[in-house]
Amino acid sequence: MVESCIIECVANRWVDVVDCGVSTLMRVLDTAALLYWPATEIAGGICSISQQTELENVSPQRYMLVTSLDVDWRDVEPNWLDKARTLAADSGDLPRLSAVDLDVLALAVGLEVPLYTDDYRLQNTMQKAGLETQSVGTSGAKHVWRWELRCTGCGKKESVPSDVESSRKGSVKDCDVCGSPMLLKRAK
Ligand SMILES: [Zn+2]
Repeated sequence: MVESCIIECVANRWVDVVDCGVSTLMRVLDTAALLYWPATEIAGGICSISQQTELENVSPQRYMLVTSLDVDWRDVEPNWLDKARTLAADSGDLPRLSAVDLDVLALAVGLEVPLYTDDYRLQNTMQKAGLETQSVGTSGAKHVWRWELRCTGCGKKESVPSDVESSRKGSVKDCDVCGSPMLLKRAK
């Protein structure tokens, strides 16, 4: 009994290995890929666990499908997240990245694998860091640029600090000189 069970288990595993034989390249997929790609393309992709909630909020149906696939859901290691925040601060994109964006970026940075995304801020950060990024399917980032803070009052410019709070809208901080709100602008 025991012996036949082992053989069967080994046989099953062998069949599994053959089935996914052409091992896909390791790659991190952002939530747009989970929303729009066919199941066969999504399988084998690496994603952050935090994307599950995001996906479920956007499309419960899609969430059901994707969580039934062989996706490599990962926790993001704190040191990867630190590295991602530093890179995003360097490119100036940090204040406009969501927590999930940062998780996705951290996975690609930590694992040193390509990131598939249509978010031009993520593309910009990856490209500025010399890392590979691929488009999910809409138009890719054509130019690399960086952001800076500019005061709406006196016009003072400064680089984006790495401890800035992540959010997608509103002023980033108040100007040290005149106290007016500072907004993100593309550096010229
Ligand atoms: Zn000012």
